[in-house]
Amino acid sequence: MEENLTRELDAAIRAIPDYPKPGIVFRDITTLLGNPRAFRRAVDALVHPYIGTNLAQIAGIEARGFILGGAIAHQLTAGFVPIRKKGKLPGKKVNIAYSLEYGVDEMEMHSDALQPGDRVLLVDDLIATGGTAEAAVKLLRELGAEVVAACFVIDLPDLGGRAKLEAMDVPVRTLISFDGD
Ligand code: AMP
Repeated sequence: MEENLTRELDAAIRAIPDYPKPGIVFRDITTLLGNPRAFRRAVDALVHPYIGTNLAQIAGIEARGFILGGAIAHQLTAGFVPIRKKGKLPGKKVNIAYSLEYGVDEMEMHSDALQPGDRVLLVDDLIATGGTAEAAVKLLRELGAEVVAACFVIDLPDLGGRAKLEAMDVPVRTLISFDGD
């Protein structure tokens, strides 16, 4: 990744030690979102490889994936599909359980959110163990989507998430990585 973008993102992302529990360094992107130039540059960099690639939908993971995914969908003239925590969607749903870096949860999508064969880009702010994104890919594939790639602002490579997605044949793109967890 371009060095000057990496530097700008590094300066815009806040590290909060011991949140939400001791030993976790929380990578807080609210400071990036509140910085007009850094937010724009991050979205532009995430969008860039997919211009003209005919993506039908951008799937964003609740909640920070909604903010980035909405901006990316707008730029690419694609639709946006929310992948939500259990119990939030009103219509007929598909559901999957998954484990997080710090806990377990379930996520859901509307069953009619995608057409079989839709080319979809998966978006979230950060990939750690990859458990969240892996579950999202499974849901998208259950609905017949072609998951073209998954993109994240932040990679925590020591936690193995990128390798997990690549093993599922999902190309992964990230803008900045931080060692450790
Ligand atoms: P994982 O399933 O382990 O890849 O965790 C990824 C999800 O948890 C993403 O939705 C992230 O927003 C959140 N997350 C995990 N670890 C962190 C961290 N160290 N800082 C901020 N968010 C995190």
